[in-house]
Amino acid sequence: MTLIRPDERGRFGEFGGRFAPETLMPALLELEAAFEAAWSDPSFHAELRHLLRDFVGRPTPVYRADRLSQELGLDLWFKREDLAHTGAHKINNTVGQALLAKRMGKPRIIAETGAGQHGVATATACALLGIECAVYMGATDIERQALNVYRMRLLGCEVIPVTKGPGTLKDAVSEAMRDWVATVETTHYIIGSVVGPHPFPWMVREFQKVIGEELQEQMDGGDSGRPRPDVIVACVGGGSNAMGIFYPYAGSSVRLVGVEAAGHGLETGEHGASLVAGSPGVIHGSRTYLLQDDAGQVLEAHSVSAGLDYPGVGPEHANFKDRGIAEYVSITDAEAMEAFHLLSRTEGIIPALETAHALAWVANERDDLAGKTVVINLSGRGDKDVQQVAALDE
Ligand SMILES: *Cc1c(COP(=O)(O)O)cnc(C)c1O
Repeated sequence: MTLIRPDERGRFGEFGGRFAPETLMPALLELEAAFEAAWSDPSFHAELRHLLRDFVGRPTPVYRADRLSQELGLDLWFKREDLAHTGAHKINNTVGQALLAKRMGKPRIIAETGAGQHGVATATACALLGIECAVYMGATDIERQALNVYRMRLLGCEVIPVTKGPGTLKDAVSEAMRDWVATVETTHYIIGSVVGPHPFPWMVREFQKVIGEELQEQMDGGDSGRPRPDVIVACVGGGSNAMGIFYPYAGSSVRLVGVEAAGHGLETGEHGASLVAGSPGVIHGSRTYLLQDDAGQVLEAHSVSAGLDYPGVGPEHANFKDRGIAEYVSITDAEAMEAFHLLSRTEGIIPALETAHALAWVANERDDLAGKTVVINLSGRGDKDVQQVAALDE
C-alpha cells in the first residue's frame, strides 16, 4: 500500500505532480500542510465522522440485487451511494473539504461545475457549515441545467456565469483558478474529483475511501453474513467514486474494474475514455492519461452522462492502470441507456447515467462473471437524468 501513496512531489509513479502557475504554489503548499495536520488530528476525524453519519447518512447500505442477480446469473450487490444526502458520493468530498476550509479559517469557498452536481454538493456543505459559496459555471451549462442552478441559489450560493469560450466546464475551471489566485488568503477551492494538482488527488481519495472501508466491514465474508466481493466495478469520470471504493482493496485479490464512457463509440473519437483510448500528458495541474491530438491539444470529451464527459482522469488511476492494480474498460452511450432501463425495471432503482455504465459492463460480461460475487458502486441516483432519458427515448 505504501507504494501507491503519492511521493513528496505528489506523484503516483510517473503520474500526478503539481503543474501549476507560481502564483498558486503557496496555496497548494498551505493546503497540503493543513490537510496533513487535520488528517492526523483525531478531533477532525471525530467531527467528520459525525457529519458523515448524521448529515450525509453514512454508512450507506450494501444491497443484494436479487432479481438482477437471477437475471444475469451472478451474485450482484450494490454499494448505495445513491442514498447519500444529495443523491451521490460527491458529498463525502465536499463536506470533508468544507470542514478543512473552516479549520483553515477560510470564510469563502469556490468551485466549478459542469452539470451542476458538484456545485450542488459544494453549496450544500457550505450551507451546512455557514461558509460563503460561489460556483463558476459556463453560460451554456447554466441554460442546460436550470434546476441545479436554482438549487445552488436556494442553498445560498452565488452562481457565476462564465461567458468565455463555449461556456462549459473547461472555461469554468479556468475562471475558478483565476479567482483562487487572486483571493487565496480568504478562499478555499473545492475540486470535485481525484484530479488537479497535488494535494487534490490524494486528499479527495482520502475523503472518498470511506466507501471502500465501509464495504470491507459490510462484506467481510464472516460475521457480516455476507460474502467477500470477487469483483468491484465503478464508473470513471474524474475517478473519485471508483478510487473511493477501489483504494482499500488495492493490491488484494479482488478484481477492480473501472468503466469509462465510450460515448458514440471509441472509433468515432467522440467519447470520454481517457485511460482506454488516451495517452499521457498534462491536464489541469497533473500528469495523467488524457484525450489529446497529435499536437498535444486537449480534445473535447463526449458522453451521454455529464459526469463522465471529461477529457482527463485522476493520476492515481493512471498509475493503477500501468501497474495492473485495476483494469479499465469502456461502455457506449447506447449500452448505458439500456442498463439504465434494466436497473429501473428489475430493482426499482433509477440510477444516474454515469452509474449505468458500470452495470452495462457487468451485463455484457455476465458469462465470464457467472457465479461471482460482484459489487457495483452505485455512485448516484438518476432523478437528475430522467428528463434527458425521456427526451432521448422519444
Ligand atoms: C460526478 C459523478 C460521477 C463521476 O465522477 P467521479 O469523480 O468519476 O466519481 C459518477 N457518478 C455520479 C452519480 C456523479 O454524480
